[in-house]
Amino acid sequence: MKKLSVLTVLFVCCISIILLIDSQSKLGILNSIEMNKNNNQEINNSLQLKSKQTVEVKNAEQTEEKGIEEKIDASIPAIKKESFIIVIDPGHQAKADLEQEPIGPGAKEMKYKVTGGTSGVITKKPEYVLTLEAANFLKSHLEKRGFQVIMTRSTHDVNISNRERAEIANNYKADLFVRIHADGSESSKTSGFSILAPARENPYTLPIYEDSYQAAQLILANIGKEIPLHQNGIFFRSDMSGFNWSEVPVILPEIGFMTNPEDDRKLSDSSYLSNLMELMASGIEEYAVFKKHN
Ligand SMILES: [Zn+2]
Repeated sequence: MKKLSVLTVLFVCCISIILLIDSQSKLGILNSIEMNKNNNQEINNSLQLKSKQTVEVKNAEQTEEKGIEEKIDASIPAIKKESFIIVIDPGHQAKADLEQEPIGPGAKEMKYKVTGGTSGVITKKPEYVLTLEAANFLKSHLEKRGFQVIMTRSTHDVNISNRERAEIANNYKADLFVRIHADGSESSKTSGFSILAPARENPYTLPIYEDSYQAAQLILANIGKEIPLHQNGIFFRSDMSGFNWSEVPVILPEIGFMTNPEDDRKLSDSSYLSNLMELMASGIEEYAVFKKHN
């Protein structure tokens, strides 16, 4: 009987030891699984960190690339700014000056210094107000493209003759002198955009004839895509002191007929006027590119 009890105790002890070992080893496995999980988590975290770092590096690279792009973008206007000057003359002024001046260097023929210009048949806006509005748009569109722009006037209360306006362009050695005007006609039906340019046979403007004509053509090609032209869009003149005194390529855009109700209304619509000047700026930019390669 004693023998049986001892055997029973031994058996129970053995079972307990086996169970203890088993539970310990299970716990161990679980612990090791947990550890593995933790390790995996850490690996994941470190991968995430790495990928985050990669993203940051990429972002840094992109910022650097962007920086380079910006530097390149900024350098293009800088080159043009130094090398291409546009003088814009907003036609007329608040008060006409009907004194006279020679029509060209050494000329006996005289012409009014500055006439009064036309006015809007519907809007009643004077031409000198419209030309300054248009000139301001053109100036800002050209400056956005990196060009250097000089205005002959920025207010209405000035007295600058057409000869003096040309001399401003000469003094700046302008690459292009743009005289902004609007047209008037006895017929209210006459409408459209045109450009006046120095005539081939005009001795005063012989040296600037080719370039002036080229600029006029490139601007007309751009404007004509969207805006109706007056006749064929270009008129050659020999009788204008603002051309004859100019030693630099010169054009005179007539931006529309203020005596035509529809043109008058459109020209006083600032989005129309801004777009018209944007098209003109595109043409001027094409002329600048043309001059750079010719
Ligand atoms: Zn005018």
